[in-house]
Amino acid sequence: MIKRELYSVEGSKLVRQRRFCPRCGPGVFLAEHADRYACGRCNYTEIKKETKPKSEAPETKTKSAQKPKTEAKPKPKKEKSE
Ligand SMILES: [Zn+2]
Repeated sequence: MIKRELYSVEGSKLVRQRRFCPRCGPGVFLAEHADRYACGRCNYTEIKKETKPKSEAPETKTKSAQKPKTEAKPKPKKEKSE
């Protein structure tokens, strides 16, 4: 019901690079696998476009603009270290 409240942030970079399920609609994320996305709800599967056979000669791929600036933010751990 109030699910939208969780996504109401737009200008604060809270947007995640996650895919929504086209079948279930926004709100249902696709689980990201190595080479595909999968919806655990309706079994929808979407193959990633960058699926290259990695059995050939090693490609000299330069890490340039593959992903948007994703800074690894330290997540607050809720573990008891006692
Ligand atoms: Zn789905």
